[in-house]
Amino acid sequence: MTLLDKNVKVEEVPTGSPKKRRIKLKTTTDRKKTTRTQARKNTQTEKTSRSLTNKNKKTQMKFSSSKRISRIQRKGQTQLRGKPRERKMKIPELAPDDIRIIPLGGVEQIGQNMTILETKDDIFVIDIGIQFSSEEETPGVDYIIPNTKYLVERKDKIRGVFVTHGHLDHIGAFPYIIDQLGYPPVYTGLLTKWMIDKRNAEFPHLKKLNYHIVEAGQTVTVGNDMKVRVFPVTHSIPDSLGFSFETKQGNIIFAGDTKLEHKNQVPVQREVDAYTKLEHGDQKNLLFLSDSTNSEQPGWSKNENDIVENIIQLIGEATGRVFLGTFASQLTRVMAIMDGAHAHGKKIVIEGRSMKNNIDIAIQSGRYVPPKGLIISSEEANQLPPDKVVYLLTGSQGEEFAALMRISTKKHPKIRFNQRDTIILSSSIIPGNNKAVRRLKDNLSRHGLRIVQYQTSDVHASGHGNQDELLWIQKAIGAKFFMPVHGHHSMLRAHAQAVEERNGFPRENIIILPANGAIVDVNKDRFIIHKEKAPNNLTVVDGFRIGDIQDAVIRDRKTLTQEGIFVIIVNIDVRTGKLRKSPDIISRGFVYMKDSQELITEARHLIKKSIAKSTEFKPIDFDLVKKNLTDDIARFLVQNTGKRPIVIPVVLGV
Ligand SMILES: [Zn+2]
Repeated sequence: MTLLDKNVKVEEVPTGSPKKRRIKLKTTTDRKKTTRTQARKNTQTEKTSRSLTNKNKKTQMKFSSSKRISRIQRKGQTQLRGKPRERKMKIPELAPDDIRIIPLGGVEQIGQNMTILETKDDIFVIDIGIQFSSEEETPGVDYIIPNTKYLVERKDKIRGVFVTHGHLDHIGAFPYIIDQLGYPPVYTGLLTKWMIDKRNAEFPHLKKLNYHIVEAGQTVTVGNDMKVRVFPVTHSIPDSLGFSFETKQGNIIFAGDTKLEHKNQVPVQREVDAYTKLEHGDQKNLLFLSDSTNSEQPGWSKNENDIVENIIQLIGEATGRVFLGTFASQLTRVMAIMDGAHAHGKKIVIEGRSMKNNIDIAIQSGRYVPPKGLIISSEEANQLPPDKVVYLLTGSQGEEFAALMRISTKKHPKIRFNQRDTIILSSSIIPGNNKAVRRLKDNLSRHGLRIVQYQTSDVHASGHGNQDELLWIQKAIGAKFFMPVHGHHSMLRAHAQAVEERNGFPRENIIILPANGAIVDVNKDRFIIHKEKAPNNLTVVDGFRIGDIQDAVIRDRKTLTQEGIFVIIVNIDVRTGKLRKSPDIISRGFVYMKDSQELITEARHLIKKSIAKSTEFKPIDFDLVKKNLTDDIARFLVQNTGKRPIVIPVVLGV
């Protein structure tokens, strides 16, 4: 690495170049924050730095005690940790006749779906989902889950949880949340119940849930005489349900994730019935909350039945083995394809944990009864003629350890590709996975086999309706107020705009919520969006830890990935303040030490100078030594390299 000449001043870097911007970014407050974070760290280090042996012992203790905590948490003492940083807002009282709606997730993102419906006496919860974390925004975090503080404070009012379907973005946060809510009864479809139980099984501390299995067409009475009508919706997993809460002000309708079954863009009768029969007598539709995932996609989505037919036809025509890569969550499709393969006299091999799990759940719950002998092992498949075997696999997104990738890179213990194989990639590419999917396709192609993919053949359809379907549903329901949910803010806006411009819906009756935790009170005449919000700061599952994650942790992780770490270890004589030996420097992910001798030598020199300055007065103030070291070295490094690694001083006083 070439070091910038020390005499080259930062100001001389041309305006607008990344280096200058980066340096300019360091404001006083920024520095203060870093110093504060460092200071906190330093205090921790201080405690463990009396002597090196002591330090090692304590570090070990720290690790073992954190393991112990993890175990305790797993046994059932999971609790919210971390300091809530939101300002304590006084939540406005709910007027006696109003209905309150609060989305705790799903209006700022895809996923984390959870919504509260509150009346004077009761609270109902709709879905308890997770959002998958992204490496750019929340590195190292497993999942993001809804912030349930509002609910926990009103736990006694919760009368039931209604779950629309079994996808993780609607059920995934159950094991982290349901005990905090005091195990209210859960109303959902049969398959969804099994999905939730499967999800919870990894958390043995959880109590058995109190389920009420409901079916489309049924009306259940919950809480203080709240009637909830259950209606069928089309999605990509069986038992997808919508719920119409028949409040005194009118029906409040949650449809979950929706698309339409249609013939040439004409919805089938079942869809017409589902959406047009929610009103009855004086019970009018008041508010409809609608899926916005594909609101920016024009026209109609492809019909799932057509997709399934195409795939089954491909399977029938194949003269070799067929490998079908799809999402395990597309359970409706998977089940239909299994039957289709059977009709062609073929056997099924299932590969991939989530695929096996989901098919198991479908079978155990009784939702799917596979023809006898249909499912075989890969060893049995090897004994059959190639054109008699269909493999169902995970990994169509190019996941490194999933079945498709492992077979393509010849790392799978039992299965090898050959030129007579057909691969059907029955899935779209999730944004962000482009590179991985490209790598997968390259690897597959090297085997000289046939690849069928959604870009050129109709082998995949989304489980979410496109704009024209959403408009059809909105019109069919015809509620007085409309609230787009399930999507990023721009998707909600696109949905609202389409409903206004193309369905002629009055703009003033559209409710677009600005953030998770936003509170809207509605009655038959009007709605109010309060400026106060339910607590909504980010809640994450980070290893065994659950709770608010401190911004500092995320900031440090980002800095570590982008800028690296620079550790200084110094050994000071407490009486004289002199260094007992030359400072040790350890750096990771910052610069390659061997090529940066000049920089390191200068840094050592500066460390000595900084310590001499800070230890002038006795007794030595170790906090001051560390603070000065951090500031001096951080400034030196940024000026000389343009990088801003995390600087950690370890000061040992002997
Ligand atoms: Zn879904």
